[in-house]
Amino acid sequence: DQDVKSVVSVGFDDVYKRGRKLGLGAFAVVFIGTHRPTGAEYAVKQIDRSTMYWGDRDALQDEIANLKLAREGPNIVQLYEVYEERAFCYLVMELMEGGELLELIIEKKTFLEHEARSSIKCVLQALAYMHEKRVAHRDIKPENLLLSDHKDLNSIKLADFSFAKYVRKRNDCRTLCGTPGYLAPEMLERFPAYDVKCDVWSVGCLIFLLLSGCLPFDDEDDEVVFDLTRNGQFDFHPQNWASISRGAKDLISHMLIVNPKKRISAAKALESKWVEKGDPELEKRQ
Ligand code: ADP
Ligand code: MG
Repeated sequence: DQDVKSVVSVGFDDVYKRGRKLGLGAFAVVFIGTHRPTGAEYAVKQIDRSTMYWGDRDALQDEIANLKLAREGPNIVQLYEVYEERAFCYLVMELMEGGELLELIIEKKTFLEHEARSSIKCVLQALAYMHEKRVAHRDIKPENLLLSDHKDLNSIKLADFSFAKYVRKRNDCRTLCGTPGYLAPEMLERFPAYDVKCDVWSVGCLIFLLLSGCLPFDDEDDEVVFDLTRNGQFDFHPQNWASISRGAKDLISHMLIVNPKKRISAAKALESKWVEKGDPELEKRQ
């Protein structure tokens, strides 16, 4: 832990100048911070500890610990410094100037296969690394995938470890978190016992969304979404999927398997034909 300093004596505002707001969350606001001595810009996540319950405070310590654990990982937003002050905690992170993947999805509606593959490869590389360390992210969705460069789909990195959990032993995750539409079925159980595979399910939902423009389990009513999720009930509607490769559908089908033990792992998904090279003939025609 030597490289990430926990500073107590110098205040955050002594070292950083606050700039434009980048995002807003439940307990956090994210803004640009300019490092006064060097002029370098960072993303700063300011977390309000005063309104947190004790459980959330533990979660904050988990978030910091997991970000430190992820420090050497590929395609993971890096944490540089932590300031713990009375009311607020500041996480000084790598600035992702390209914004959220969500913005790109709204702009493009659907991705070509090679574009989806570049994006998903980044996410799977980050997850394979974290999963090897037995950390589940638990909130994989386009709002938490950030780009260094808006135009470069190979520049996607995984952010927001606020729900991440170190899975000490199998079946160690027991809190409901995440976002309807991306939530794995095992996370919906009354006494959920799940492991890192829950992230793979969310990636399956994400590939489905990138290629077809909609989520596999979708309804205005969250309860309906949960029922569809529990049953793993989804279709490749021919109107959206007719021109999409077999390999993409195969991979999605292996990710959206209700039983986490039978679901493909992030590492194996990286080796799948679609992620490695896709269907060059089909992609030439796209
Ligand atoms: P929360 O836990 O509240 O969801 P996030 O860590 O996801 O907080 O940050 C909220 C939003 O702030 C993100 O969705 C993103 O738009 C923006 N953001 C977070 N981290 C960065 C960063 N390193 N660079 C650029 N923008 C960021
Ligand atoms: Mg977030």
